[in-house]
Amino acid sequence: MPRLLDYVGQCAELEKMARLEPRPAVEAASPGLAGPSADLACLVCGAGPARPCGYCRGVAYCGDEHRDRDARWHAPVCADLRAIADDLAFAAEHPRLADALLARAPSSAAVPTSWADYLGADLAASERRCMTDLATRPLTLAHVLTLLSEHVPKTSSEVCEIHIMAAARRERDVPPALWSEAGRLLGRRFALTLVGPELAPGDLGPGIRAVPGLYRRDLWQRLGRPALVIGYDCGLLLYPTWKQTMLELRGSGVPFVITSYRGWEAAGEARVLKAIGAVPLLAPALNPFASLSPRRSTTIANDVARDNAYLSAWR
Ligand SMILES: [Zn+2]
Ligand SMILES: [Zn+2]
Repeated sequence: MPRLLDYVGQCAELEKMARLEPRPAVEAASPGLAGPSADLACLVCGAGPARPCGYCRGVAYCGDEHRDRDARWHAPVCADLRAIADDLAFAAEHPRLADALLARAPSSAAVPTSWADYLGADLAASERRCMTDLATRPLTLAHVLTLLSEHVPKTSSEVCEIHIMAAARRERDVPPALWSEAGRLLGRRFALTLVGPELAPGDLGPGIRAVPGLYRRDLWQRLGRPALVIGYDCGLLLYPTWKQTMLELRGSGVPFVITSYRGWEAAGEARVLKAIGAVPLLAPALNPFASLSPRRSTTIANDVARDNAYLSAWR
């Protein structure tokens, strides 16, 4: 884990996010603290040994005073931090979860409209969250292609070329059988190209290849022109390298989809894309195939988000 911001910095960021996305206050009694551990430091003052939150064990404090001071920020995420720990343990114990997921999937070739539709309603909490986390990228792709059917028409024999920009470990690690599942649901064959600076070149599975580098339109000369470009949680507002890519994609005739962790992030990205003349095909909206497994911020202890929570499409 990269170093957390200092506590004052973390609170300032959380204040800013609370203004951007107000949430109802959580009226929960502070859980007690577990026994002290020499490995842990207090989130507020840095002193150790510290005692972890007895429910989630995701944060630790030197004592009740600093636990109470942080309760305002910890209470809203305590259950999510516990879910993160539970899901990590569950995933480690179930390395073949993708097979179990595919065994549950309805055999009909029709794109589901919700996770309940696809997975059923009888899964245990961690199993369900971990399955949505595995399948969020392929199912989001199937979902947007259904919504964009007029812009990405289905031709009977042709392979549909999809480029995934800003691809990284999370995209690379999707089991190939789950990417194929998106094609099966849509009744079409995909060729997927993952492009990202950290990827090693090579084939990841049938019809799935990885290409290192930033996503630029001149890649089309080498890779072919895609039917659709998608970027999962690509963070347009965070990285200046996106500017050139977005200017090149806007008006190219190829629709592009981006997903985002949060509503205000999606709204900010939409403002930037509109300002450069991109035309919205799908306005930012909640994604029914967001991961249900929370993901923790790398710099703020009491902050969680969910992969692909919002999506929008542009041309
Ligand atoms: Zn302290
Ligand atoms: Zn907690």
